[in-house]
Amino acid sequence: MESAAVLSVIVPMYNEEAVIPALAGRLRPALDDLGVTYEVVAVDDGSTDRTAPLLLEHARAWPELRLIRLRRNSGHQAALAAGLHRAGGAWVVSIDADLQDPPEVIADMLRAAREQGVDVVYGVRSDRSTDTAFKRYTAGVYYRLMRRMIGAEIPAQAGDFRLLSRAVVDVLLSLPERAPVYRLLVPSLGFASTSVTYARERRAAGETKYPLRRMVALAWDSAANFSAAPLRVATWLGALSFLMCLGLTAFGVVVWANGTVIPGWTSLFLAVLLLSAVQLICLGLLGEYVARIYRTVQNRPSFHVGFDSSAAPAQPAESAPMRRTAAVR
Ligand code: UDP
Ligand code: MG
Repeated sequence: MESAAVLSVIVPMYNEEAVIPALAGRLRPALDDLGVTYEVVAVDDGSTDRTAPLLLEHARAWPELRLIRLRRNSGHQAALAAGLHRAGGAWVVSIDADLQDPPEVIADMLRAAREQGVDVVYGVRSDRSTDTAFKRYTAGVYYRLMRRMIGAEIPAQAGDFRLLSRAVVDVLLSLPERAPVYRLLVPSLGFASTSVTYARERRAAGETKYPLRRMVALAWDSAANFSAAPLRVATWLGALSFLMCLGLTAFGVVVWANGTVIPGWTSLFLAVLLLSAVQLICLGLLGEYVARIYRTVQNRPSFHVGFDSSAAPAQPAESAPMRRTAAVR
């Protein structure tokens, strides 16, 4: 890789202009104190505010800060993927921009990895009292569901604040997956791991970039990428309807043998409705997987890097407007 830094810190950012001063003020001392060479790979995920110019301003006085801009907003996980592709460190940490993950914990992660000789160190949130009750509840449901569907190796309450060794990053980059959900993908690789706990802090500034719509999308990506359980639901529904059909047939034969004529319209109507519903659900579920296969076959990149400050260090973001190209996710 182009950089020989010991540590790369990936910071995905979407419209985070409000937190940049606080982030730089806290991340830089935390990293300078580590006593290792490092680079910060800030990934501007198609922000429409002043995130990129502000970052470039900071980069003038902070040579370790590097900016990558995606041409359009591609989502948190795609921004992480972009960062992983560009990170050159022997260790790679990903951290949220909003200081909810305390940068000082990176030192603990690096120490834990070196002392215990592991490839992955998860940041586990021991205290989420600064998150909203709704966020805590939905996150709780998410992690419980994922552990049930995928397995107990998924650490609960471990988001995307984690340290990876170069070996893990290389494996991640070699996977052809379209919409990777790293918090599930990393544990599934089976590398030796440990975790450090930390208290999740309040967002330093700005607002959450994860509205309900994105949370639902992440949950669905998680379920569909890792498990065929939703498809099995379709099978079970099919089996159940078939059993019901058998029962109704038996019932029909009995009443026919007894010479009772049933009006039949209601039951017929209900049966048709039920079966069409079941079929539609199954079709929809199948379609979801077909869509994933289709996207994989299309083999489009999940992000486009429009600008890389290390490739064009003298160019300020404003004077290098990016042409919008075909949208890709
Ligand atoms: N983020 C991103 N692209 C997006 C949405 C979010 O890069 O489309 C970044 C965001 O800037 C932040 C991190 O992902 O650094 C986590 O987002 P946020 O803090 O808004 O989520 P929350 O902590 O509320 O779950
Ligand atoms: Mg946050």
